[in-house]
Amino acid sequence: MGQLEDLQLSHSFLELGNDFSSRVVPVPLRNAYLIHGNEHVAETIGLDPEAFQHPTFVGCFNGEQAHPRFAPLSMVYSGHQFGSYVPQLGDGRAMLLGEVKNKAGHWDLVTKGAGPTPYSRFADGRAVLRSSIREYLCSAAMSGLGIPSSQALCLIGSEEPVRRESVETGALIVRVAQSHVRFGSFEYFSHTNQHEALKALIDYTIQRNFPEHQASEQAIEGFFMSVVQRTALLMAQWQAVGFTHGVMNTDNMSIIGDTFDYGPFGFMDSFLPHYIPNHSDHGGRYAFDQQPGIGLWNCRALAYALKPVLADEAANGILNQFESIYHEEYLRLMARKLGITGTEKSIPELLNPLFSMMTVDEVDYHRFFRFLSDPQSGRAQATALFRNKSGIEAWFTLYDNARPEALCPAEERSRDMKAVNPKYVLRSYLAETAIRKAEDDHDHSVISELMTVLESPFDEHPTFERYAAEPPEWSRQIELSCSS
Ligand code: AMP
Ligand code: MG
Repeated sequence: MGQLEDLQLSHSFLELGNDFSSRVVPVPLRNAYLIHGNEHVAETIGLDPEAFQHPTFVGCFNGEQAHPRFAPLSMVYSGHQFGSYVPQLGDGRAMLLGEVKNKAGHWDLVTKGAGPTPYSRFADGRAVLRSSIREYLCSAAMSGLGIPSSQALCLIGSEEPVRRESVETGALIVRVAQSHVRFGSFEYFSHTNQHEALKALIDYTIQRNFPEHQASEQAIEGFFMSVVQRTALLMAQWQAVGFTHGVMNTDNMSIIGDTFDYGPFGFMDSFLPHYIPNHSDHGGRYAFDQQPGIGLWNCRALAYALKPVLADEAANGILNQFESIYHEEYLRLMARKLGITGTEKSIPELLNPLFSMMTVDEVDYHRFFRFLSDPQSGRAQATALFRNKSGIEAWFTLYDNARPEALCPAEERSRDMKAVNPKYVLRSYLAETAIRKAEDDHDHSVISELMTVLESPFDEHPTFERYAAEPPEWSRQIELSCSS
């Protein structure tokens, strides 16, 4: 474990050449200060968590102090936004500083909000505190839930005024991920007919993130199969945990299957199939129940981009497997949430009536499954969530029949269910509470308390019971937009 200055950084993306990125220079935020550092992420990249306190830590990421091994660049990409192709996007406010390589893999260090880049168009290259807090918390929440995600090493605040609907302050997060290459990166080179560059990017990605296919004669097919598989599995995890990304444009789709580019995302409170956290998504293209279909749509867009090097027949054969991979995984995850093993046929028969009742009665998705995990008082608490008592009681009869008591001791089953049904979820109102405290009172205690519970969301954390409470009435009024 070392200090920031000791990190051995490499620059493989830079070495791909000028067609792939532009060198950039960060513009420091005024009076930047550390709000929070994630010790687990520090350890992942071989950084001593004490490095957060080092006098030059913030300055290095903020561009005030030169770091001998940082070589900031912004990546070029394009992508489909809300179904329409946009020929050029690129990192408008993200800068890749370098890459750490260790036993666990390659880790990109990227700042988000450090100033404009050649891809900023008319925007300012900044990220406001509110959206940075949300990304910071959600990166940790996803890892706590065991869902692939980009990570955030630290959250930095400042006194830099940043104009959105009103004047806010600028912030910065340092994002850590095994790749920042997006579906849209391939689309860019394909749609501009830069086929050599497209091939180089594919080789680079296979070598760096999919080495298992490197030696194969069908490396590109294998690579595409893995991307489709990871995407389908990720969709199943989002659906099982009640997460909606909000902006599943192809430029926000990580090629390695991470949850990536957090904007107007949301965990649903009460179960709502057509939940739309992004207030700007009028048509509901990226609603909760649309995500698996959009995941496949995005894989098709990627297949289209890979056309110069991947035959239609092979691509279609792979795309055709998306649905069954998704479905099998979703049912497996839901069976675990229900505490049912080995009888997957009955899962849809249990879920369909349950979800209908939950929707009508606006039953909290997470509280229901957590209560269900408790062999003692849980059933009464779960029942209390419904207005239609006879309906849920009839459902419990179905449930009990699908789940013979004798198979496994109640205690053991409860433990297994609690290990997949989180007690703590990053509900929008909790993120909003952390934001209000930070913006209004300069108080970051809620951020740090939420980090504690979200990093191990299946544990009890008795001192923080309040973060597992029923959402307050005002949480229904929260509206999120793409403005960040
Ligand atoms: P997003 O919706 O965050 O995925 O952003 C879409 C595109 O707009 C990406 O290319 C971003 O880098 C860019 N972008 C968003 N906000 C800003 C900003 N404040 N400054 C510069 N570029 C931005
Ligand atoms: Mg984006």
